[in-house]
Parts: sequence; C-alpha cells; structure tokens
Amino acid sequence: MINPEPARHRSLATKFFLFTAALLVWVVLVVVAYDVASGNVSIGKSVLLFGVVLLIAGVLAWVTMRLLVRPLQTLQAGLQAVREGRLERVRLRRTGDEIEFITRSFNQMVESLEANRQVIREHHEQLEDRIRIRTEELESAMEQALAANKAKTEFLANMSHELRTPMNGFLGMIELVLDSPLQADQREQLITAQRSAQALLAILNDILDLSKIESGRMQLELIPFSIRTHLRDCIRPHQVRAQQNTVGLRLRIDSAVPETLSGDPLRLRQILNNLLSNAVKFTNAGHIDVQIGAEPGPAAGIVVVNISVRDTGSGIPGEKLPFIFEKFTQADGSISRRFGGSGLGLAITKHLVNLFQGTLSVSSQVGRGSEFMVRLPMGVAATGPHAVAADAAPSVGETAPSDALILVVEDNIVNQKVIRGLLQRRGYRLETAADGSQALAMMEHHDFDVILMDVQMPVMDGLEATRRIRSVERWREIPIVAMTAHAMSGDRERCLSAGMDAYLSKPVSSNELFRLLESYLGTDRTARPVAPSASPDPAPIDPRLRDELREGDASLVSDVVNLFLQLTPGRVDKLQQALTAGQCDAVAAEAAVIRQSAQRIAATPVADRARRIAEAANRQDHAGMRHSLLLLRSELERLKRHAGEMKSAALG
Ligand code: ADP
Repeated sequence: MINPEPARHRSLATKFFLFTAALLVWVVLVVVAYDVASGNVSIGKSVLLFGVVLLIAGVLAWVTMRLLVRPLQTLQAGLQAVREGRLERVRLRRTGDEIEFITRSFNQMVESLEANRQVIREHHEQLEDRIRIRTEELESAMEQALAANKAKTEFLANMSHELRTPMNGFLGMIELVLDSPLQADQREQLITAQRSAQALLAILNDILDLSKIESGRMQLELIPFSIRTHLRDCIRPHQVRAQQNTVGLRLRIDSAVPETLSGDPLRLRQILNNLLSNAVKFTNAGHIDVQIGAEPGPAAGIVVVNISVRDTGSGIPGEKLPFIFEKFTQADGSISRRFGGSGLGLAITKHLVNLFQGTLSVSSQVGRGSEFMVRLPMGVAATGPHAVAADAAPSVGETAPSDALILVVEDNIVNQKVIRGLLQRRGYRLETAADGSQALAMMEHHDFDVILMDVQMPVMDGLEATRRIRSVERWREIPIVAMTAHAMSGDRERCLSAGMDAYLSKPVSSNELFRLLESYLGTDRTARPVAPSASPDPAPIDPRLRDELREGDASLVSDVVNLFLQLTPGRVDKLQQALTAGQCDAVAAEAAVIRQSAQRIAATPVADRARRIAEAANRQDHAGMRHSLLLLRSELERLKRHAGEMKSAALG
C-alpha cells in the first residue's frame, strides 16, 4: 500500500508564514535601500518597519491556519480513519468555499462506503444462513439415505427368506417329481420348469450377493482347499455347455500352483463361474482356454494366483469395455436377451476380486474374442484340506446309514415334504417338528443323530431352540445344521454362536445336504441297500499291515485290537471331558495318543479320525472337534464289529 504521507512534513501555515515574511522583508529592504539612496536613513524607523512586517506575516500565517490548514488537517484525520477501516464522518463547517465542498464530498463517500459495507454484511449473513440450511439439508438427506440403506438391507434379508422359501419348495418338488416315473413329454416340461426356476434363483442370488457386498457384509472365509480339484470341479459343467456349441474348453494348471491354498474356495468358484459362463455364452465357435498360474506373493507364505479365461467369441467393443464391470450393464443387449443375464455377473466378480485384494482386467477385440485376467493373492496352506467343511467333504455315496434318525424342524409344509422326500430317497429315517418347542418335546422321547433346523419359525425360532438344546448336557453333542432362507452375512455367525454346527442356505442343495449328513453320520452303519455304495469304506484294519502282524503270531492281531478296544473308551471319555471344558490342548494331546495307538494296530480309519480331532483342536474349531469325535466314535464301533467278526472267523 502506498503511504500518502510525505517523508518530511512541513505545515502549510509555516510555508505560508515563511513565504509572506520573505515577501515583506523584500519590500522592507527595497524601502530601506530607497531611504539609503535618498540619504534619509533612520535605524529606529528600519527596526520598527521590520517588526511591523514580521507581525503582519505572523497574523497572516495565523489566519491562513484557521481558514485553510485546520479544515485540511481534519480531513486528513478522516482519511486516516477510513484507511484504518473506521468509516467516520468529519465535522462540516459551512464556510461556503472549496473546503466545505471537499468535506461534504468526503462525508458522502464515507456514507456510500458504509452503505456498501452494510450490503456486503447482509450478503454474508444470507450466505451463512444458506450454507447452514444446505448443510442441514445434506445431513438430513444423508440420514435418510443411511436409513433407506438399512431398510434395504433388512428388506433384502426378509425378502431373501420370502423368496428362497418358495424357491426351495419349488425346486425340491420338481426334483422329487423328476425322480418318479414320467412320460417323456412330462419330463421335458418339468426339466424346462426346473431350468427356469434355477435361472430365477441365479438372478436372485446375484441380487442378494450384490446387496451383501455393497452393504459391506460379505466376508471371505479362510479355509485350506485343494485348488486343482476345486477348479476341475468348477469347470466341468461349463465344459458340457461349451461342447453343446462344439466349443472346446481347456483347463491348464501350471506346476507352480501349490497343491493346497488357504482362502475362500466358494468365492473363488463364484469368480471363475461368472467368467466362464460369460465365455461360454458369448462364444459360438473356436475354444475357451482357462490358464491358472502362480507367482511368489508380496510376503512369505503368500502366492499370487493368476487366472486367465480367454475365448474366441464375439468380443466387446472398445467404447463399451470401461462399463462392463458396472452393475446392470450389458455390452450387447441382443445376445443377453437371447441367452439371459442380469448384467450383474461382472460387477459381482469385480467386488469379489477386490475382497481378495486382487485385480481384474480385460482385453478384447470385436470378432476375435476376449481375455479376462484375475490376480488373487492367497495363502499357501501347510496342511491338506479338512473334510469338515461341506465343500471339502468326501464324495457322497448313494447309501445312507439306515439307523440314523434325523429330526427336521421346519414350519413350512412344502419344505417339510421336500426334505422328507430327499432324506427318504437316501434311506434316512426322520421325524418332523413344526417349531422349536415341538422339537424339544420330541427330543425327550427320541435319540436323534442330527437335527436339521429352520431358523425363522413361529412359537420358538431355531436359534432359541438351539440354545435350549445346548443347555441340556446329554444333547450337547448332537450336530445341529441350520437350514435357512436367510442369505445375509452375519446369519451364519448368529447360527454358529447359538450353538449350531453348520449352515445350509435354502434352497438346500441335495448334494450339500448329503455330504454334510455323511460327514456327521459316517457311512459305517448297517447300510440299507437303496443303491450300491459308490465308494466302499476303507477296511477298519489295514489289510496289508494286518497280514504283516499275522505272520508273526496268528492270535496277535485280535489280541492287540481287543486291548486297544478296551483301553480306548477311557481315553475317548477323557477327550470328551476336555472338549466339554473347552481345553483344546488336552483334546489335541488325547487325540494324538489315540492316533498313535490306532496306527500301531493298523486301524487307519480310527487313526485318521483322531488326527482330524487334533487338527480341529489346534485350530480351536469346537464344531470341528465335535464332528470328528462323532466320526471317531462310529469308527470305533465299526472296529469293534470287525474285531467280533475276526474272532468268530478264527473260532470257525
Ligand atoms: P451378463 O449377466 O449380462 O452376462 P455380466 O456383468 O456378466 O452380465 O457381463 C456384462 C456384459 O459384458 C455382458 O452383457 C456382455 O455384453 C459383456 N461380456 C462379458 N463377458 C464377455 C465375453 N467373454 N465375451 C463378450 N462379451 C462379454
């Protein structure tokens, strides 16, 4: 800012005084010079003259100061005040001259500045008000959006129940009818109905999955699984569909891919399924190549699994590529109309890949094909996969343990019928209860081996019923499997924390159900021959080792087995006590002793069950320990029967 004050200030009055004084002194000097020239010089007169002149100059300076300098100084102070932000008017003297005019103008300028300042202040206040109102509006909109989102999630949870329950009935009934003798055209019509229902269920699952992901409720599991087996299983149905179009589908797995990985096999399968079903859908000729590789990950024990799905199909136009990962987006509506699709598959895939903290990319050329590439970091599992998870359970035979009694707790009559039909078809015995309290009453009179429990029921729901069952000592170990149409994340945790052991979401897949039942009940019981067993159980005593033992001493085998059978129940009881007390270390130690003893007498299946208990104990997996203990008990029963048979054969 420019400083308007000069560096050296000299008052106007002083200047005027000096100027007048100089002028008058000059006049006096002229007069004195004239007197000297005319010889009429008088010292006294000269001094007087000088004195009068100075007096006149002083009076003139004083008058100037009053008339001119004072008003100017007042104005100067006013300007200084304005400069400092104070809008003050200066006192107006009605002198009628330029000074009055300037002062008046100055005051007008101050007034208009004040008016402007007032306008700005009002604008400012209005602006602040507007910002406050807008913020309040935004806050309330945000609250509404959050409430709407919560309502949406709840709505979806309820709808998922409402939609999946009838779908369960629908698909189950179709499966049952398809199993009965039918005319060819009836079968065809039913298969069409089944396909439509399955398509509807697929869309429903997509929508529920997406909402689950978007609400941040989807979490990945960490389970050891064999990636090779898993991927081969996954591509098989796609291979069949591709072959119908005479398109070849090849899977190549690099040798660098570890045998066992730790991650979420279900979600990995979902990623690959989405990419493969698109590849098959959009490829009319040529082939589809699935290539799986692995490279070292960012830390020890982590690998990055690379999955590439390349097809020679229609390809995707460049301008559409950036949008295909958005939900409800389809690059080519005509193909999707012909083959179906909701435009959700890739959006879900992208979200799932993000959950894995991986990457998903695509390159495509119209008419030549597309390649989708996924990179997923995953842990390398130290041990082999466990059979406890339904997904990793051994393949299901066709025979059910006939003496096993199952309690189905389900309020929906159609669902009851479906489950009854499925279980009876496998030769299982069952009882049904319509709600939790009925189930508890029935348990007083029957010993059930497994309970299949619906969650949402009138009178007493499945969670409450489970809590009550678990509070009774003798029912603590009965496996309870939740069967629920609730597909929202958190349901599984709620079921497990209520004391359930496993979770099946409706519509229940018959394969999954049987796998789970088999993992609880084993295949060792007296089989009712509904159909021949697909995979016979391993012999209770390894025949090779048994023969080796026998060579030493014929009676040795049955002696050591009997000794084992006498000693082991005590150990199993101890193990059971440790399990009830929640002492995982003690469980693992007892299980290790049983395993070693079983190995010594070549009772491989018993040793195997004991090993699984120890593994579950090391993972602190209580449900796993309980399952494996059940399996161990049934394996011991089988060994006992086998020992009896050996004895009578020896006697015979
Ligand atoms: P949709 O259910 O329609 O298949 P997606 O999200 O899985 O939904 O795919 C979105 C769109 O991306 C598809 O409609 C299709 O236009 C395009 N697309 C995806 N994969 C392929 C592919 N392998 N070849 C050609 N187009 C594809």
